[in-house]
Amino acid sequence: RRCSAVTVIGLGPMGRAMARTLLAAGHPLTVWNRTAGRADELVAAGATFAATPGEAVGASDLVILSLTDYRAMYDILGAATASLAGRTLVNLSSDTPDRTREAATWAAGHGAAFLSGGVMVPAPMVGTAAAHVYYSGPEGVMEGHRGVLALLGTPRYLGGDPGLAQMMYQAQLAVFLSTLSGLMHATAMLGTAGMKAREALPELLASADSIGDILRAGEENPGAALDAGEHPGDLSTVIMMGATADHIVETSTSLGLDPTLALAVQGHYRRAIDHGHGGDNWTRIIDSIREPR
Ligand code: NDP
Repeated sequence: RRCSAVTVIGLGPMGRAMARTLLAAGHPLTVWNRTAGRADELVAAGATFAATPGEAVGASDLVILSLTDYRAMYDILGAATASLAGRTLVNLSSDTPDRTREAATWAAGHGAAFLSGGVMVPAPMVGTAAAHVYYSGPEGVMEGHRGVLALLGTPRYLGGDPGLAQMMYQAQLAVFLSTLSGLMHATAMLGTAGMKAREALPELLASADSIGDILRAGEENPGAALDAGEHPGDLSTVIMMGATADHIVETSTSLGLDPTLALAVQGHYRRAIDHGHGGDNWTRIIDSIREPR
């Protein structure tokens, strides 16, 4: 069976990893990147570097975009809209759900189908069994390209709203980025006592690793109680966790560290206490986030 042609636009670490994966699977591959030199290794491996974005789009029915944000897509394709009719754009770049929906409308206006996606692994893991990618957009478009897209990582289709996969990506990255900042905050704190990061991080990572087990202790799906609006207060209460949040702010401030992250966390507990929920389970802070005022 002959493999279908694919185009990849955007050759950062992610785009290059996708391109390598598609080439290895035997797909005729066309690539384009603003900085042409980033394609050298791919061209040596058999890819074609298109002279213009319009030629890149024209080369394949399936066009995968891997860019810093959606602005970059317009910068690249804005002058090549005549090439879009009949193509499928799969944009795997980060941006807001609203800008993603606008882009789907923009693509439709030029006769192109549009899927948005969020890749949930770093570049070295693209194309491995551990990789998965969230998609949303028209189901028929998803199904039509599922086979090729599955090469990049297991597709997880979320629904027809193109903003949905983007929202899932931002939600996942909200967990990831705040955890990374927490880890660096904690490493800086221990560093003030002379502890090297190479000693501190293994201790801290063990805590990060255990969060899933802690939340699942007792019940398989801790989301069920949240959905029911139940915060029974039989485990860690808002008052107890809030006191600890206060201690982290005080410790960080006295050590001369940036307290911004600690203050944000403290604010969630303080507002729950102010609203009379101190005796509830700590999960009550979700209301502080849902209703910031
Ligand atoms: P990079 O920032 O390294 O690559 C970005 C690409 O966008 C490059 O090809 C760059 O071109 C291009 N680009 C940016 N702005 C413009 C512009 N105005 N005009 C033309 N081209 C532009 O990103 P990554 O490869 O690391 O990531 C790509 C996407 O994947 C991002 O949205 C990221 O959030 C997401 N992602 C990244 C992961 C990672 O671990 N890196 C993991 C999961 C998702 P040039 O080479 O010329 O600069």
